[in-house]
Amino acid sequence: MNCLFCRIIAGEIPSTKVYEDENVLAFRDIDPQAPVHILLIPKKHFDSILEADPETVGMLTEVAKKLAVEEGIAENGFRIVINTGDEGGQSVKHLHMHLLGGRSMEWPPG
Ligand code: AMP
Repeated sequence: MNCLFCRIIAGEIPSTKVYEDENVLAFRDIDPQAPVHILLIPKKHFDSILEADPETVGMLTEVAKKLAVEEGIAENGFRIVINTGDEGGQSVKHLHMHLLGGRSMEWPPG
């Protein structure tokens, strides 16, 4: 298995888990870009959102909303990002959602 996030799901690579169910795993980003920076991934491998079904994307979104509340960033606001492909800045080819919060975000993104 050479997918980094599949190896995290399998427990071969450690992560700081914040949520897990039968379909979704969420863990803290190793290189946080905000005070709260969580990655949410489906346990089923999809290279990117282009391959994923609506149910999977919906599950990730629902968990992100729940974690935003739990992490205390829902009230002031937060950002959800799904980088896709090379020009989208996707470095890990396993669908993942970034949940970022705890500071003011800028627009446009870099
Ligand atoms: P992206 O650039 O959208 O593909 O996001 C990949 C993210 O994975 C980056 O924010 C990395 O910091 C993060 N990352 C890479 N390796 C690990 C790891 N072992 N544990 C947690 N986060 C990681």
